[in-house]
Amino acid sequence: MSTPHAARDIDTSRPHSARMYDYYLGGKDHFAVDKQAAETVAEAYPGIFTCARENRAFMHRATRVLATEYGIRQWLDIGTGIPTEPNLHQVAQSVVPEARVVYADNDPLVLKYAERLMRSTPQGRTTYIEADVNDPASLADAPELTEVLDLSKPVALSLNALMHFVTDAQGPYEIVGRLMDMLPSGSALALSHCTPDFDPETWEKVTAIYTGAGTPVQFRSHDAVARFFDGLDLLEPGVTVGHRWRPDITPEFSHAEVSLWTGVGIKP
Ligand code: SAH
Repeated sequence: MSTPHAARDIDTSRPHSARMYDYYLGGKDHFAVDKQAAETVAEAYPGIFTCARENRAFMHRATRVLATEYGIRQWLDIGTGIPTEPNLHQVAQSVVPEARVVYADNDPLVLKYAERLMRSTPQGRTTYIEADVNDPASLADAPELTEVLDLSKPVALSLNALMHFVTDAQGPYEIVGRLMDMLPSGSALALSHCTPDFDPETWEKVTAIYTGAGTPVQFRSHDAVARFFDGLDLLEPGVTVGHRWRPDITPEFSHAEVSLWTGVGIKP
């Protein structure tokens, strides 16, 4: 979907978080500026590649668990990122072919590749909304949201590696609260979030690199991440380092290498 709008808005003069993340994951949808900034991060924090892969693996497991054990059939995934197979709907639809997924991101580059997110099963449905999580009303008012999701039935809100781009000054807890308020009982929050807890010095450098590149970030402690789940019933094993959340196998990464808090909660 290479619309003139998207082409006009793609800024290749400075690094973008979505394209840097694509580089960490070994993708091809980034530019020289993104690669350069990503390599500077990797010099300070070589674990970034493991962190990105484990983040993705958490999303796969959380999606499968919600589909198989909690009857979730609908997802709202904000901060989707550049498509990387398998995307959330492919994981969900491999369990429940009728699964419906609404994707949202504020980077025009993601919109450019959104066609890859539309390859739904015939029984299910997917769509993409260009929206900023800092403006939950714009998401709530988007007609595509209710065309694809039935908000009277449970929805999993998926915020993977997103909320560390929302600083405390932007009201991150209020934003997540407003989004969960739109969803009925039985809905879920699946969230992953980078943390400085295991190696504060390194994460200070990572923070400086992102901020210096024009992307404000706020990596948070365990307790600050756990606060996103206030009022929800946290699934076992609670807010856990990424590779320890219901692992299929237990990988031997150190906590510092992964540096990611992950959790899933259900709205009572
Ligand atoms: N959720 C994916 C991608 C994470 S990368 C995964 O976990 O694999 C973070 C994504 O969040 C990027 O695509 C970036 O463009 C997006 N993002 C950052 N700030 C955002 C905002 N304010 N609103 C919406 N999306 C945002």
